[in-house]
Amino acid sequence: MISFVKSILDFILPRTCVSCKNNLDAKEEIICKKCETLIIPAEEDKIKIEFEKKFLSDGIIKDFTARFIFFDKTPIQDLLHELKYNGKFRVGIFIGEEIYETQKEKLLSWDIDFIIPVPLYSLKKAERGYNQSYFIAKGISNKLKVPVAEEFLKRNRHTQSQTKLNIEQRKENMKSAFEVKKQNKLKDKNFLLIDDVITTGATITECARELKNKGAKNVYAVCAALTN
Ligand SMILES: [Zn+2]
Repeated sequence: MISFVKSILDFILPRTCVSCKNNLDAKEEIICKKCETLIIPAEEDKIKIEFEKKFLSDGIIKDFTARFIFFDKTPIQDLLHELKYNGKFRVGIFIGEEIYETQKEKLLSWDIDFIIPVPLYSLKKAERGYNQSYFIAKGISNKLKVPVAEEFLKRNRHTQSQTKLNIEQRKENMKSAFEVKKQNKLKDKNFLLIDDVITTGATITECARELKNKGAKNVYAVCAALTN
């Protein structure tokens, strides 16, 4: 939008930072400059270590990237909370576009055919009304010019909360949680799975396993934030 128009709109209807709630200036989107500096980006070394730790031994996720490191009680928590629970869809688009801008080369080299947000169980989705990861996927899709295709994966059940489970229990917990649809259209295609936060990687690995079992060529993964 032209910044002059934006300035007038901001005067009539001030936009506020999702974290500190101060008014944004015309150049700021979603979050103010001050809060933005408090968000820790995921460095390439950290991403590499996390890939090796979470995905390498399974050999299912071909490659992986992340944008931020998650810390409690910092603006990244506010951003993801507003997206997940308060319907601030624009936050998801903003994060998705950020991911593209900072990881363009990697994303392009993966030669993705479809982007899939990690699905929620249908009852969970009905309760919240939307899947937060869809909007992150949409932000990447806008820039990468690759479609978001939610129809390929369905979540069959809500898996129990994973916070108290160890890695082996988490893997067991996720088994057969996902089901592939439209199998005839995914043969030899490359997929990019999107999640808001990745902790152990068990959820996204199960999604990828299902896709690969049904003929997908390569499956890549991106998350907005990695837990520290
Ligand atoms: Zn702020």
